[in-house]
Amino acid sequence: MVGAMVNRDGNGWTTCGQGHRHWGRFGAAGLLAFAPDDGQTCVLLQRRSWWGNHGGTWGPPGGARDSHESAVTAALREAEEECAMPADAVSVTGIFRDDHGGWSYQTVIASAPRPFPARAVSSETSQVSWVAAEDVAALDLHPGFAEQWPVLRAALQPMEFIVDAANVMGSRPDGWWRDRAGAARRLRDQLAVLAADGVPALPEEMRAPPLERWFPEFVLVVEGAARSVAATHAAGSRHTGARGTGSGDTGARDTGSADTGSGEAEQAGQPGGRIRVVAARGSGDDTIAELARDLPGRRLVVTADRELRGRCTAAGASVTGPGWLLRQL
Ligand SMILES: [Zn+2]
Repeated sequence: MVGAMVNRDGNGWTTCGQGHRHWGRFGAAGLLAFAPDDGQTCVLLQRRSWWGNHGGTWGPPGGARDSHESAVTAALREAEEECAMPADAVSVTGIFRDDHGGWSYQTVIASAPRPFPARAVSSETSQVSWVAAEDVAALDLHPGFAEQWPVLRAALQPMEFIVDAANVMGSRPDGWWRDRAGAARRLRDQLAVLAADGVPALPEEMRAPPLERWFPEFVLVVEGAARSVAATHAAGSRHTGARGTGSGDTGARDTGSADTGSGEAEQAGQPGGRIRVVAARGSGDDTIAELARDLPGRRLVVTADRELRGRCTAAGASVTGPGWLLRQL
């Protein structure tokens, strides 16, 4: 009963600090889903029904946020209600906040491995379509979305943080030399929390657009005595997978990939809370340099190793030191 009473309490008009009238008493949120399609990036947009606010314009599905909802929860709900987005279709990669003072619109940016089926299922929505990013500006856009589109477009990329476990562990004297596997587990668990909570600001050298929060995928590369954490991580994810609503790819997965020479385990966390542990079969540095070269989108390598930093930069990745990462934990 309590649930029913607070449900949809965000519906209503309010006035922001700049004197505009906005729908959504506690702010509003939308979902900007993107996916690769035929070599380009596409986004899922809906056209608003003619009778509604800014009728006939295109924008991401979205609407009023309820008092008990996070921006992510509200955005995913709206996309499901308006566009029939399937559950687990996307992984959240970032949140952009348009703050008007006393009212804000948060655009939740989320990646899908491929365009998923979507259709108009709400009376507020007349049409739903995957649109190539380069064609978006030519549409009759909702004015708020049109203003934010250049920043949002720059954020439509996967992002991976590749963490040199040995180097990061070595930079904090917490007794790691007595139990390398235990230290690697502690680091993994802290990164899992960070992956779920998101990162409020990136190192400057990444030159990324100004989002309120980023949800990169963390790739923890372990070697030597710390390698056992990869197997433990895979086994553990089977039991905690029920919580997962993110990438949906849970459980152990040994890629046996010849080119990275690594065993790999993946875990889906909550939306955006993604971390996988890669056990380097040979040199951790080689595995890290190969990941920095091969992963798509923005890559940040966390290490203080001078030679490795050079290899990763040459591969097109950004690099930062363990101090930056440890300050986020
Ligand atoms: Zn306003």
